[in-house]
Amino acid sequence: MTQNERLKEKQRLIELFETSPSIVGSATWREYYEQTADHFLDNGVIIPPCKVGDSVRRMDNLDHCPFCGEQPKTSFWVSQHSYEEEIVCFSVTCTGCGVSKTKKVKFGRDGATFADIQKAMDEAIKLWNHRV
Ligand SMILES: [Zn+2]
Repeated sequence: MTQNERLKEKQRLIELFETSPSIVGSATWREYYEQTADHFLDNGVIIPPCKVGDSVRRMDNLDHCPFCGEQPKTSFWVSQHSYEEEIVCFSVTCTGCGVSKTKKVKFGRDGATFADIQKAMDEAIKLWNHRV
């Protein structure tokens, strides 16, 4: 994310706080939190099912392992990090026998968009499914 994109997102979040329901209309803190959470979700806030540092797993479109028949898992992690670039590994690994296919992708200083990440993981899944 560039500095400019971050500023825009920050401004959008501030606007969501400014337009969120008032505590005055709520009987309890819990009610206030629920109304505020609904307001944020209704306005497009996305909460990924992970926190910074977690690896993300997606189970769709994956063929079972050709060696043991188990369901594989996907994950990605940064394998090298420098001021200029990051090398990120996108991997599909069998949960049974541990065999895996990994796609390494280099990202520049501007980082990667969600579409870049999606594309790289799709390539890793293609590698796994086609055993190339
Ligand atoms: Zn296996």
